[in-house]
Amino acid sequence: MASSFVTSLNGGLALYVHIPFCARRCSYCAFNTYAGLGHLIPAYVDALCREITWVGRAAGRKLRLDTLYFGGGTPSLLSVEHLARILQAIRAVFDLRDSAEITLEANPRGLDAAYLAAIRGLGVTRLSLGAQSAHAGELALLGRRHDWADVAMAVRAARLVGFRNVNIDLIYGLPGQTLASWRESLAQAVALAPEHLSLYSLGIEAGTPLYRRIAAGKLAELDDDLAADMYEYATGYLAEAGFEQYEISNWARPGYACQHNLQYWRRLPYLGVGAGGYGFVEPVRYGTVDRPAEYVRLLADSLIDYLSPEQCNQQFPLSPAVDPAKVETVTPRQARAETVILGLRLVKEGVSRCDFERRFGLRLDECYGIELAGLAARGLVQCLDDRIVLTAQARLIANLVFREFV
Ligand code: SF4
Repeated sequence: MASSFVTSLNGGLALYVHIPFCARRCSYCAFNTYAGLGHLIPAYVDALCREITWVGRAAGRKLRLDTLYFGGGTPSLLSVEHLARILQAIRAVFDLRDSAEITLEANPRGLDAAYLAAIRGLGVTRLSLGAQSAHAGELALLGRRHDWADVAMAVRAARLVGFRNVNIDLIYGLPGQTLASWRESLAQAVALAPEHLSLYSLGIEAGTPLYRRIAAGKLAELDDDLAADMYEYATGYLAEAGFEQYEISNWARPGYACQHNLQYWRRLPYLGVGAGGYGFVEPVRYGTVDRPAEYVRLLADSLIDYLSPEQCNQQFPLSPAVDPAKVETVTPRQARAETVILGLRLVKEGVSRCDFERRFGLRLDECYGIELAGLAARGLVQCLDDRIVLTAQARLIANLVFREFV
């Protein structure tokens, strides 16, 4: 018997697997990840396989997975054997399509051809490299332990073993970064011919070493105007280089947009497993506990090995690792706002009036006519047939636009 949430799923799902381990912590990082806990990895992989089995069985039938994403943290810290076990657990309880996009985030240092060939052989189709900058000084500021030669070698090795889909992450808006150094990082990245580029503006999160250095006056404050110039430069440069911008921070060769992340921006359902994973099936959003040791304990305490599929069957969210404080039922009003905000992130696709009405039984203009008219009058959104999209100038101040819908 299928769990009740399953009946609400018509299309395929995305599955996110969180790997919360890093060799060391970068100076700007506020993600749920931990350095110095490598000894926990084997128990964590055991727990992850148990959680995947639980979630899959609880659904009552093999749910179709169109995308799978290993994020972190540093998923490439996992051995081939560990990744093989996790994928085996997933394939046992989910219908992981042969055509599925399977992404693995990786640290460029130490990615050798043997490792990459092995994970390619396991079915990983997309490699996402946290490159961040082509400059040693900027990488040192960020606390990254690789250099650009590592990035270039990782891309070469990935090509050699058959990866046809490689993403490179870069960060702009760093203290002390110049437009010239940003241009150089972009040029170096484009020279490696990736299919996809993600460009992130540095966020200074409270509690990080970088935040403390800036607060203590040891580093310059970020220059927002310069960061805006960097973004504008990238937009023009990447268009000339043949990349399509499909999201505020993401560019791809035609046909290489990240299908997994599109699922989030289109506000379609996804499941999340691992410590600090997040999932969403309308109208419920949930997260699992953050701390790896607690996660391992919760999964060790669960009775999964002894339960039949029917006994596993329970209300969504399904996992024993769910943190009750992170379970939220999204109201219809929130759902409509999220649909517009996430849709506007997709700079070409935008928000479809027809899709909005089909989802909510209300016309977009009934809900946000005044806000949209005001934004259009200020030149921040435009109508293209059925779709509403951000204008190019609004992409730089998207958060101000989004506030109109909250
Ligand atoms: S590698 Fe990524 S997840 Fe790990 S500490 Fe650095 S920024 Fe954070």
